[in-house]
Amino acid sequence: MPYSIAMETIKSIEKQTPTKLEKKLESLIRKALYDFQIIKSSPLAIALSGGKDSLTMLYFLKKISGKGFLDLKIHALYVDGQFSCGPSISKNHISNFCKQLDVPLHVLESKRTLENLECYSCSRERRSLIFNKAKELGCKEIAFGHHKDDVLETLLLNLLHKGEFASQLAKVPMHDYGITIIRPLYYVLESEILEFAKQKGFFRLTCQCPIGAKSKRLDAKRLLKILSEEFPNTKTNLFHALKEYGSDKSLRKKSLPII
Ligand code: SF4
Repeated sequence: MPYSIAMETIKSIEKQTPTKLEKKLESLIRKALYDFQIIKSSPLAIALSGGKDSLTMLYFLKKISGKGFLDLKIHALYVDGQFSCGPSISKNHISNFCKQLDVPLHVLESKRTLENLECYSCSRERRSLIFNKAKELGCKEIAFGHHKDDVLETLLLNLLHKGEFASQLAKVPMHDYGITIIRPLYYVLESEILEFAKQKGFFRLTCQCPIGAKSKRLDAKRLLKILSEEFPNTKTNLFHALKEYGSDKSLRKKSLPII
């Protein structure tokens, strides 16, 4: 039943009885919003990749809006182009998804071709496009769909490559830009998002970027899987250690981060 959620209006979403998993995800997202005092202003920009993570985030933020949190005017920002960072669905489906949730979609253009494709500059360009559009729309916060596994993979990458015990934070004010990056899925595991996206019918595996498909992040993902098989509490303990002892160096960064 592909993209069934895209055929629903926000009114029908409100009427549905949530599954146990949906309740759990909503509760974890509410906890992150509360713990880190995320979402302090409206309008709010949401960076949509079209993958399961950002679509799940949009679904829940729309659902939560006005219920214990600010009534949000949400703008979805999507960078279109030949490549996307991970599994994604087509622009038409994203557009339909946003329409049914009554969220305006702003499509930005990346001009990257295979000849000039390289993660560092590509990612900076994508972030610049999103930051500039968010500012133009008057948004003071931009939500990214990074989840708990992303945070742990980044932790391993930073530790093994740079000797730094640091990862993404749930909230990073970018003072030079007058905008704050927020991560509402901070407490949510990728496996939970995957299951939810499958339940709702907006999961599809298509990776459009040959660089992303070979990235070190995938090695970190594999390593995390191996560690978790050997030590079942790996994710919980790493996440706990990160919160207790992790560096908050990214709070002092001046330039546009590669996150
Ligand atoms: S994976 Fe890297 S190169 Fe590919 S689209 Fe994303 S940022 Fe660009």
